[in-house]
Amino acid sequence: SSKHKAQHGFQFYNAAITEKVHRRSQLENDLRKVLAKKQLQLFYQPQVYLESGQVSGAEALLRWNHPSKEFVSPEEFIPVLESTGLIVSVGRWVARQALMQLKQWREQGLNLPRIAINVSAIQLQKDDLSSFLIETLKELDLTPADLEIEITESVFIDNDVIPKVLQEMHDFGFYLALDDFGTGYSSLSYLTRLPFNKIKLDRTFVNDVQTKASSEAMAKSLIALAKTLGFEVIAEGVEDSQQYAFLNDQGCDEAQGYFIGRPVASEQFIEQIEQFYKLNESKSFKSNQAG
Ligand code: C2E
Ligand code: MG
Ligand code: MG
Ligand code: MG
Repeated sequence: SSKHKAQHGFQFYNAAITEKVHRRSQLENDLRKVLAKKQLQLFYQPQVYLESGQVSGAEALLRWNHPSKEFVSPEEFIPVLESTGLIVSVGRWVARQALMQLKQWREQGLNLPRIAINVSAIQLQKDDLSSFLIETLKELDLTPADLEIEITESVFIDNDVIPKVLQEMHDFGFYLALDDFGTGYSSLSYLTRLPFNKIKLDRTFVNDVQTKASSEAMAKSLIALAKTLGFEVIAEGVEDSQQYAFLNDQGCDEAQGYFIGRPVASEQFIEQIEQFYKLNESKSFKSNQAG
């Protein structure tokens, strides 16, 4: 039995790995109950056009209100959802919830060009997500241009299925963004072989632009490369006014990060945007170039 196998293999594990495996199966059990018990919630983080400071979109980020009140990061529970296949139903829930929120905000008068959701390569392989999205958009009276799909590179997306699915989504008119660009599995050849509209410059480059010459050079070059190839570029992890000004000067299109606003529950989103607009009115942080 699998129990027997696990016991037999025990001697090969060190304590840390055993702890990790145990926690993973605990999380898996908890996650199976999650959809039924409504423990999932979406937070929303604003994205803005650097030049105007106007909101360009909002990224929906999954939060798990674990019954123990312990904070469990998506970095930890998303992989468990992926390996169990639960990501398919959770992912559909995320898409539908985010689109309903977009519709509601617009009805409240917020000028929000689009909403962004994260989709992992596993979802593209295991689910007919395009059909689900098309149906949901029709039902809510929205269009594919209202939705941006951020492809997270937790696995190689360089297989047979993924390029076809992405092309199909692109042809439908969905906006495709390559998340965490410059790290992990991402490869420069994706840029020319897959139909992305936008790249999201990973926050590791953004965070150190003032302090590390190498990060500044990387950020500059990656923005220039992406712009030359005709992509829109959004920088993630923008935490202060200097980073914002630097990116604006480099011709980066959009920004997202704590400087503009943190991921918040939907009820706090509009208030947070208004605070950023007030700061933006002063224009004091907009450019390094003396004016
Ligand atoms: P991501 O898509 O790259 O999302 C950006 C992450 O950076 C978020 O972490 C966000 O809270 C964080 N962040 C935003 N601005 C700043 C900043 O200025 N400084 C710093 N230090 N961090 C910032 P979060 O919410 O913990 O999500 C982690 C990852 O989990 C996401 O990375 C995404 O890959 C994944 N994820 C989240 N929600 C979903 C989902 O609904 N579906 C899927 N498939 N993956 C998701
Ligand atoms: Mg993302
Ligand atoms: Mg990212
Ligand atoms: Mg990430």
